[in-house]
Amino acid sequence: MAQRRPFNFAPGPAALPEAVLEKAAAEMLDWRGSGMSVMEMSHRGPQFLSIHEKALADFHRLLGLGPEHKILFMQGGASAQNAIVPMNLLTNNPRCDYVHTGHWSAKSLKEAQHYGDLHLAATAEQAREIDGEMVPAFGYVPPMKEWRVRPDAAYLHLCGNETIGGVEIHNWPNLAAMGAGDVPLVIDASSHILSRPMDFSKVALAYGGAQKNIGPSGLTFVILREDLIRSRVPKAMDCCPSVFDYRGVLDNDSMLNTPSTYPIYIAGLVFEWLLEQGGVEAMGRINAQKAALLYGALDQSDFYQTKVARSSRSWMNVPFYLPDDRLYEPFLAGAKARGLLSLKGHKAVGGLRASIYNAMPLEGVQALVAYLADFEKEQS
Ligand SMILES: *Cc1c(COP(=O)(O)O)cnc(C)c1O
Repeated sequence: MAQRRPFNFAPGPAALPEAVLEKAAAEMLDWRGSGMSVMEMSHRGPQFLSIHEKALADFHRLLGLGPEHKILFMQGGASAQNAIVPMNLLTNNPRCDYVHTGHWSAKSLKEAQHYGDLHLAATAEQAREIDGEMVPAFGYVPPMKEWRVRPDAAYLHLCGNETIGGVEIHNWPNLAAMGAGDVPLVIDASSHILSRPMDFSKVALAYGGAQKNIGPSGLTFVILREDLIRSRVPKAMDCCPSVFDYRGVLDNDSMLNTPSTYPIYIAGLVFEWLLEQGGVEAMGRINAQKAALLYGALDQSDFYQTKVARSSRSWMNVPFYLPDDRLYEPFLAGAKARGLLSLKGHKAVGGLRASIYNAMPLEGVQALVAYLADFEKEQS
């Protein structure tokens, strides 16, 4: 199939599968004979309820969750969850432990400081040697044998994938081996959810905004072990708005108030598309291939630089740098001319970044790699 649209490497809101956009376009004016757009439907009517239930069921199936895990659809983004998690989980124990791996973990732990007694279990604030190479601050996941998790903490929070720094935690920690086997694991999974198989049996709660790897912005997912909420005494903190009380949201099937109906519908189409592609196993294989291709191209060149330790490299967000600041403008202009969009790095770290979520096909990464080689040649 000829490429009709450019390849969009945006970090979020990000590219969606073209098949999903086409389906949504075809159903825009009249969803399956209802005479209405999904945007115009009552969230309590049978049509939307069927969309909502199917999206939740498909998401649950894609994640390979057991019956002990429930999924909530909320609003406010991952940023709101940074406060909602402590407001819900620190009711009878103020101790919360955080691992600091970069920009997004910093946001989470700064927010949690308002609600609890925060302890840094590990931090990547210092440049250091990792596996024999010198790595700058926030370019690695602190080695897990050095983590100091309080055994009586109410939870341990991790950012699973630092979208800006390009640092990913590829395996969840073994908390029992750290003497903290009872501490619930909480993960900001915004930018790598559904990118590969993940072991949710070890996860008490995972959350994120939909706009990276799932759908449009305006939808927040929360995956949680039901007993974490049921066993809590008696409810969220008094300061917690009722729409942010997990128990209330759970008891009302994520319909405590009007949900983000259209984003839920699009997310549902993405889940159907993912199931057709072969689920997270298939995504994991393709994403591994995409990441290997791109990092391979960056590694074999002396022109492009990366800063993240090899063992912590993100499969989803690949930041890289040019040897001269004057080259960024021509690089981005040349990329745009070839239909390679949104490669500018985040302002906090500069440089370039290719976000290669599930919706980025292998051909997009191949086109980027070809451009990297051509641009380097032009400069020499
Ligand atoms: C984008 C992002 C956020 C912020 O998400 P919002 O939905 O904009 O609040 C938080 N954490 C991570 C890891 C992200 O990638």
